[in-house]
Amino acid sequence: MRYYNSFFRNFTFMHDISRHLILPAALLATAAVVSSGCGATRGASRLSSAEKALIEGSGSTMRVLLVTDPADSVVLRTPSTDLPAGEIRSETYRILADKMVATVTDPSQDGVGIAAPQVGINRRVIAVMRYDKPGHPFEVYPNIRIESMSDEKQTGPEGCLSVPDRRGEVERSMQVVVSYTDPQTLQQVRDTVEGYTAVIFQHETDHLEGILYTDRLIPSSADEAGQEGAQPQTK
Ligand SMILES: [Zn+2]
Repeated sequence: MRYYNSFFRNFTFMHDISRHLILPAALLATAAVVSSGCGATRGASRLSSAEKALIEGSGSTMRVLLVTDPADSVVLRTPSTDLPAGEIRSETYRILADKMVATVTDPSQDGVGIAAPQVGINRRVIAVMRYDKPGHPFEVYPNIRIESMSDEKQTGPEGCLSVPDRRGEVERSMQVVVSYTDPQTLQQVRDTVEGYTAVIFQHETDHLEGILYTDRLIPSSADEAGQEGAQPQTK
Protein backbone atom coordinates (compact mmCIF):
# COMPACT_ATOMS: atom_id res chain seq x y z
CA MET A 1 0.00 0.00 0.00
CA ARG A 2 1.24 3.46 -0.82
CA TYR A 3 1.38 6.31 1.63
CA TYR A 4 -0.58 9.50 1.04
CA ASN A 5 0.11 12.46 3.26
CA SER A 6 -3.44 13.76 2.98
CA PHE A 7 -4.79 10.43 4.15
CA PHE A 8 -2.66 10.30 7.25
CA ARG A 9 -3.38 13.90 8.22
CA ASN A 10 -7.11 13.50 7.75
CA PHE A 11 -7.23 10.08 9.31
CA THR A 12 -5.29 11.13 12.38
CA PHE A 13 -7.66 14.03 12.91
CA MET A 14 -10.74 11.88 12.54
CA HIS A 15 -9.23 9.24 14.74
CA ASP A 16 -8.50 11.68 17.53
CA ILE A 17 -11.98 13.11 17.66
CA SER A 18 -13.58 9.68 17.32
CA ARG A 19 -11.55 7.79 19.88
CA HIS A 20 -14.20 7.99 22.57
CA LEU A 21 -16.77 6.67 20.13
CA ILE A 22 -14.71 3.64 19.18
CA LEU A 23 -14.08 2.23 22.61
CA PRO A 24 -17.45 0.56 23.34
CA ALA A 25 -17.45 -1.15 19.95
CA ALA A 26 -13.86 -2.23 20.49
CA LEU A 27 -14.73 -3.89 23.76
CA LEU A 28 -17.67 -5.67 22.18
CA ALA A 29 -15.55 -6.82 19.27
CA THR A 30 -12.83 -8.16 21.56
CA ALA A 31 -15.37 -10.03 23.62
CA ALA A 32 -16.81 -11.61 20.49
CA VAL A 33 -13.40 -12.81 19.38
CA VAL A 34 -12.59 -14.31 22.75
CA SER A 35 -15.84 -16.25 22.78
CA SER A 36 -15.31 -17.62 19.30
CA GLY A 37 -11.73 -18.69 19.93
CA CYS A 38 -8.65 -18.02 17.86
CA GLY A 39 -8.57 -20.22 14.80
CA ALA A 40 -5.63 -22.47 14.06
CA THR A 41 -3.90 -22.17 10.74
CA ARG A 42 -5.93 -23.40 7.81
CA GLY A 43 -4.79 -25.04 4.62
CA ALA A 44 -1.15 -24.96 5.68
CA SER A 45 1.36 -26.74 3.46
CA ARG A 46 5.13 -26.66 3.18
CA LEU A 47 6.74 -24.22 0.79
CA SER A 48 7.12 -25.77 -2.64
CA SER A 49 10.44 -25.96 -4.43
CA ALA A 50 9.18 -23.28 -6.83
CA GLU A 51 8.30 -20.96 -3.94
CA LYS A 52 11.69 -21.58 -2.30
CA ALA A 53 13.48 -20.87 -5.57
CA LEU A 54 11.64 -17.56 -5.97
CA ILE A 55 12.26 -16.52 -2.36
CA GLU A 56 15.90 -17.57 -2.32
CA GLY A 57 16.70 -16.07 -5.72
CA SER A 58 19.39 -13.47 -6.13
CA GLY A 59 18.95 -9.90 -4.98
CA SER A 60 17.84 -8.32 -1.71
CA THR A 61 14.42 -7.35 -3.07
CA MET A 62 11.75 -9.14 -5.10
CA ARG A 63 9.85 -8.08 -8.20
CA VAL A 64 6.46 -6.53 -7.41
CA LEU A 65 3.68 -8.10 -9.45
CA LEU A 66 1.38 -5.74 -11.36
CA VAL A 67 -2.29 -5.98 -12.29
CA THR A 68 -1.35 -4.73 -15.74
CA ASP A 69 0.43 -8.04 -16.43
CA PRO A 70 -2.03 -10.89 -17.12
CA ALA A 71 0.13 -13.58 -15.48
CA ASP A 72 0.81 -11.38 -12.45
CA SER A 73 -2.89 -10.64 -12.17
CA VAL A 74 -3.70 -14.34 -11.79
CA VAL A 75 -1.36 -14.56 -8.79
CA LEU A 76 -2.73 -11.35 -7.28
CA ARG A 77 -6.28 -12.71 -7.58
CA THR A 78 -5.46 -16.11 -6.03
CA PRO A 79 -6.37 -16.57 -2.34
CA SER A 80 -3.35 -17.36 -0.18
CA THR A 81 -2.77 -20.23 2.24
CA ASP A 82 -1.15 -20.49 5.66
CA LEU A 83 2.36 -21.67 6.43
CA PRO A 84 2.97 -24.58 8.83
CA ALA A 85 4.53 -23.45 12.11
CA GLY A 86 7.79 -25.23 11.32
CA GLU A 87 8.11 -23.33 8.06
CA ILE A 88 7.96 -20.03 9.94
CA ARG A 89 11.18 -21.06 11.73
CA SER A 90 12.92 -21.83 8.45
CA GLU A 91 15.70 -19.86 6.82
CA THR A 92 13.50 -19.50 3.74
CA TYR A 93 10.81 -17.72 5.75
CA ARG A 94 13.39 -15.38 7.25
CA ILE A 95 14.59 -14.53 3.75
CA LEU A 96 11.01 -13.93 2.57
CA ALA A 97 10.32 -11.61 5.52
CA ASP A 98 13.57 -9.70 4.98
CA LYS A 99 12.99 -9.36 1.24
CA MET A 100 9.39 -8.21 1.64
CA VAL A 101 10.51 -5.40 3.94
CA ALA A 102 13.45 -4.56 1.65
CA THR A 103 11.06 -4.47 -1.32
CA VAL A 104 8.41 -2.23 0.23
CA THR A 105 11.01 0.17 1.65
CA ASP A 106 13.01 0.35 -1.57
CA PRO A 107 12.99 3.96 -2.85
CA SER A 108 11.37 2.75 -6.08
CA GLN A 109 8.34 1.54 -4.10
CA ASP A 110 8.20 3.68 -0.95
CA GLY A 111 5.20 1.84 0.42
CA VAL A 112 3.75 1.39 3.90
CA GLY A 113 2.77 -2.25 3.49
CA ILE A 114 3.13 -5.27 1.21
CA ALA A 115 1.58 -8.73 1.00
CA ALA A 116 3.34 -11.92 -0.08
CA PRO A 117 1.19 -12.38 -3.22
CA GLN A 118 2.61 -9.07 -4.45
CA VAL A 119 6.03 -10.72 -4.65
CA GLY A 120 4.62 -13.89 -6.20
CA ILE A 121 4.08 -15.97 -3.06
CA ASN A 122 0.45 -16.95 -2.35
CA ARG A 123 0.94 -17.25 1.41
CA ARG A 124 -0.73 -15.39 4.27
CA VAL A 125 2.24 -13.16 5.09
CA ILE A 126 2.20 -9.34 5.18
CA ALA A 127 4.65 -6.60 6.13
CA VAL A 128 3.15 -3.50 7.74
CA MET A 129 4.66 -0.18 8.79
CA ARG A 130 3.51 0.28 12.37
CA TYR A 131 2.59 3.94 12.53
CA ASP A 132 1.28 3.27 16.01
CA LYS A 133 4.70 2.27 17.38
CA PRO A 134 7.73 4.47 18.10
CA GLY A 135 10.02 4.75 15.08
CA HIS A 136 7.34 3.32 12.76
CA PRO A 137 9.02 -0.10 12.36
CA PHE A 138 8.05 -2.58 9.65
CA GLU A 139 6.79 -5.84 11.10
CA VAL A 140 6.03 -9.09 9.28
CA TYR A 141 3.02 -11.23 10.20
CA PRO A 142 2.63 -14.86 9.11
CA ASN A 143 -0.76 -16.59 8.99
CA ILE A 144 -2.55 -13.34 9.61
CA ARG A 145 -6.27 -12.73 9.42
CA ILE A 146 -8.65 -10.10 10.65
CA GLU A 147 -10.81 -11.53 13.42
CA SER A 148 -13.11 -8.53 13.77
CA MET A 149 -13.41 -4.93 12.68
CA SER A 150 -15.18 -1.91 14.11
CA ASP A 151 -18.40 -0.53 12.69
CA GLU A 152 -16.86 2.93 12.84
CA LYS A 153 -15.31 3.72 9.50
CA GLN A 154 -13.21 6.36 7.82
CA THR A 155 -12.71 7.15 4.17
CA GLY A 156 -9.31 8.01 2.75
CA PRO A 157 -7.16 7.74 -0.39
CA GLU A 158 -5.27 4.53 -1.08
CA GLY A 159 -2.79 3.38 -3.64
CA CYS A 160 -1.14 0.03 -4.24
CA LEU A 161 2.32 -1.05 -5.38
CA SER A 162 0.63 -3.53 -7.72
CA VAL A 163 -1.76 -0.99 -9.29
CA PRO A 164 0.43 1.59 -11.04
CA ASP A 165 -0.58 5.21 -11.48
CA ARG A 166 -3.91 5.02 -9.71
CA ARG A 167 -5.43 5.92 -6.40
CA GLY A 168 -8.90 6.34 -4.99
CA GLU A 169 -11.01 6.68 -1.89
CA VAL A 170 -11.77 3.58 0.19
CA GLU A 171 -13.87 3.16 3.32
CA ARG A 172 -12.11 1.20 6.08
CA SER A 173 -12.83 0.33 9.69
CA MET A 174 -11.20 2.53 12.30
CA GLN A 175 -10.10 -0.47 14.36
CA VAL A 176 -9.38 -4.16 13.71
CA VAL A 177 -8.47 -7.18 15.79
CA VAL A 178 -5.94 -9.35 13.98
CA SER A 179 -4.52 -12.78 14.76
CA TYR A 180 -1.27 -14.22 13.48
CA THR A 181 1.43 -16.74 14.34
CA ASP A 182 4.10 -15.20 16.55
CA PRO A 183 7.37 -15.99 14.73
CA GLN A 184 9.22 -16.49 18.03
CA THR A 185 6.76 -18.55 20.06
CA LEU A 186 4.81 -20.00 17.12
CA GLN A 187 1.69 -19.35 19.17
CA GLN A 188 -1.37 -17.78 17.60
CA VAL A 189 -1.64 -14.27 19.09
CA ARG A 190 -3.97 -11.28 18.73
CA ASP A 191 -3.40 -7.57 18.38
CA THR A 192 -5.86 -4.69 18.36
CA VAL A 193 -4.87 -1.99 15.88
CA GLU A 194 -6.34 1.45 15.34
CA GLY A 195 -6.07 4.42 13.01
CA TYR A 196 -3.98 4.53 9.88
CA THR A 197 -2.16 1.33 10.88
CA ALA A 198 -5.51 -0.48 10.91
CA VAL A 199 -6.11 0.73 7.34
CA ILE A 200 -2.79 -0.76 6.24
CA PHE A 201 -3.68 -4.10 7.86
CA GLN A 202 -7.03 -4.13 6.03
CA HIS A 203 -5.45 -3.28 2.67
CA GLU A 204 -2.76 -5.95 3.03
CA THR A 205 -4.99 -8.75 4.35
CA ASP A 206 -7.34 -8.06 1.43
CA HIS A 207 -4.45 -9.08 -0.84
CA LEU A 208 -4.45 -12.49 0.87
CA GLU A 209 -8.02 -13.04 -0.32
CA GLY A 210 -7.20 -11.89 -3.84
CA ILE A 211 -8.96 -8.57 -3.23
CA LEU A 212 -7.49 -5.27 -4.42
CA TYR A 213 -8.36 -1.83 -3.08
CA THR A 214 -9.75 -1.01 -6.53
CA ASP A 215 -12.55 -3.52 -5.77
CA ARG A 216 -13.60 -1.31 -2.87
CA LEU A 217 -13.33 2.13 -4.46
CA ILE A 218 -15.98 4.69 -3.74
CA PRO A 219 -17.03 5.16 -7.39
CA SER A 220 -16.72 8.94 -7.56
CA SER A 221 -13.15 8.77 -6.29
CA ALA A 222 -11.68 6.50 -8.95
CA ASP A 223 -8.65 7.49 -10.96
CA GLU A 224 -7.53 10.54 -9.06
CA ALA A 225 -3.96 10.17 -10.24
CA GLY A 226 -2.53 13.43 -11.39
CA GLN A 227 -4.70 15.60 -9.20
CA GLU A 228 -3.30 17.72 -6.44
CA GLY A 229 -1.94 15.66 -3.59
CA ALA A 230 -1.80 12.45 -5.59
CA GLN A 231 1.94 12.04 -5.12
CA PRO A 232 3.01 9.81 -2.25
CA GLN A 233 5.22 11.48 0.29
CA THR A 234 8.86 10.60 -0.09
CA LYS A 235 10.33 9.11 3.05
ZN1 LIG B 1 -1.80 -3.25 -2.29
